[in-house]
Amino acid sequence: MTRPTPKVGTSQLGVGYWGRDPSTHVEALQTAERVLALNYDKVRAMGLPFRLWTRVNDTFGNTRIKQCSCWNDTAKQSDAPCYSCYGNRYIPGFLKFNYITTFYSSIDTDLTLTNVVPEKTVTPFRLTLAPNAVQGTIITPPFLVPRVVLGQWESHLDAYSRDPLNIITSEWTVDGGVTWQPTSLLGSSPQYNPRAGATMQFKITLYRPTLQTKPPLFEIFRARFPYVPAFRIRAAPTPGTPFYHNDDCLPGEILILRTWEQERFRREPSGVRTETEGYRYWTIPLNYFNHEIDRETPKAALGRDHFLEEARGPETGARYIATKHDYSRTFKIFTRQDFNLRRIIGDHNDRLTGEALMRVW
Ligand SMILES: [Zn+2]
Repeated sequence: MTRPTPKVGTSQLGVGYWGRDPSTHVEALQTAERVLALNYDKVRAMGLPFRLWTRVNDTFGNTRIKQCSCWNDTAKQSDAPCYSCYGNRYIPGFLKFNYITTFYSSIDTDLTLTNVVPEKTVTPFRLTLAPNAVQGTIITPPFLVPRVVLGQWESHLDAYSRDPLNIITSEWTVDGGVTWQPTSLLGSSPQYNPRAGATMQFKITLYRPTLQTKPPLFEIFRARFPYVPAFRIRAAPTPGTPFYHNDDCLPGEILILRTWEQERFRREPSGVRTETEGYRYWTIPLNYFNHEIDRETPKAALGRDHFLEEARGPETGARYIATKHDYSRTFKIFTRQDFNLRRIIGDHNDRLTGEALMRVW
């Protein structure tokens, strides 16, 4: 399947204003369009796929996004080890690009709890078994799948077993709880991949064998599906080329290109020393990977609210923050963004950029 090279939308060209020299103006716009089209082609032909996440730094009027119970109003800080907000104040902390995520945390008030009570001695708050119960359940409110599902569902549970005999299970239903399936099956085949219009619910069951056994703890459950399709980026495989050159750009991924290694010269008594500053990377505005984004808004730009993850090859899973951004505009049209990638190390000494970001699901 081929995909036409996206063109610049004419609605954004300032129709009606032609300045003093109409022909120069039209030529300028055509130049910008050519630059953009060429950049699209380069990224399509040679880009490397990276998964992208976006920080949730506001509630955006979404009632499910809540300030996390770990947020300390005095210190203006979250708990770095928090799985509910990933040290990021707002639950769920980060969202995978081009996915719709539904999430249920221990502080949600619309959960149906049976033999389950809040545990508020430490933050973030969790849910646990009532003192007189060996088994209890958490059932989420109905979730109506709001869009066409263009890929596989994924789900993730953050809960803690505090005794080897604790059992924690998670299940889902699309028939109001008549039949429940383990979440390990969710997305595993078309039969287990709920479609637009389905009404889903999730159930977490906590179990301990005796009242004397320490009970398990529930923190947060997340499930998500892609609403933007994968697309073919290259022609048929060529023998001898790295396998990712022949792969699709999967949902949640963007394509980026590496340019050159930056060098910094430092004068020392023994002479001039060169230090590598890492590679420079670039990509096109993000609206290419999600047509609902307006190219001329901050949403089309990679920035401080994003992190990237290597999607193919030996370093799959390595995470990076983009720094030293440089946004190119050709005659007022956003055509290209350049940046450095700083590898995130999951070191406990590096609270802000490390530990929490390496945990994000
Ligand atoms: Zn938190």
